[in-house]
Parts: sequence; C-alpha cells; structure tokens
Amino acid sequence: MVDLPNCPKCNSAYTYQDGSLFICPECAHEWTLAAEAEHSEDKRIIKDANGNVLNDGDTVTVIKDLKVTGSSSVIKIGTKVKNIRLIDGDHDIDCKIDGFGAMKLKSQFVKKA
Ligand SMILES: [Zn+2]
Repeated sequence: MVDLPNCPKCNSAYTYQDGSLFICPECAHEWTLAAEAEHSEDKRIIKDANGNVLNDGDTVTVIKDLKVTGSSSVIKIGTKVKNIRLIDGDHDIDCKIDGFGAMKLKSQFVKKA
C-alpha cells in the first residue's frame, strides 16, 4: 500500500498517483514529490578510504597513484586536492588538481586531509 499524500491545494484525500505525478480529482491539481527526492539525495553519504564522511569543500589527499584517463600522467600518492565537490556516479568526487585541471576521483582512493 502506498500512502498517498493529501492534495496540497485543496487538502482532498482522494488523490491518486500516475507515475511520479500525483493528481487530485477534485481540483485537478497535479504535483510531484520533488522535495522528497531532493531530501533523499541529501542523505547520500560519501566516505573516504578511512570511513570518514566527506563534504563539499573538503580537502583530501590521494592515497594511491592514480592514472589519468586518456593521458600518461599519474596523480601521485599524497597529492592534496582542495575544495572537492561530491557528485553522483562511479567517480563521486569532482575537483581541480593543480597541473591536471578538472578531475573526477573515486572516494575510496582519497582520505580527508
Ligand atoms: Zn485538490
């Protein structure tokens, strides 16, 4: 059983769901639960190699030599990466590294500085 929310406009309880859309048959209001989706995204926790929770703006240190995709360069172990940004995906850290430029890293290969 899905617990359907009341219509936010007229507070009718006779709402129904159509995909990600909620519809109120009484006032024809349609809405989505976008706010809830954002909320669950906030709860996504990205941890470093030591299990410390990472946040946007953190400084991390690379814990193993990382090959840069599409080039022969290597990001050396111990490289400091400032002001990381957490993103969705296989590589969950977006950052800029001096001498390399914009980079995407995996959180399991860094530790919080
Ligand atoms: Zn309504």
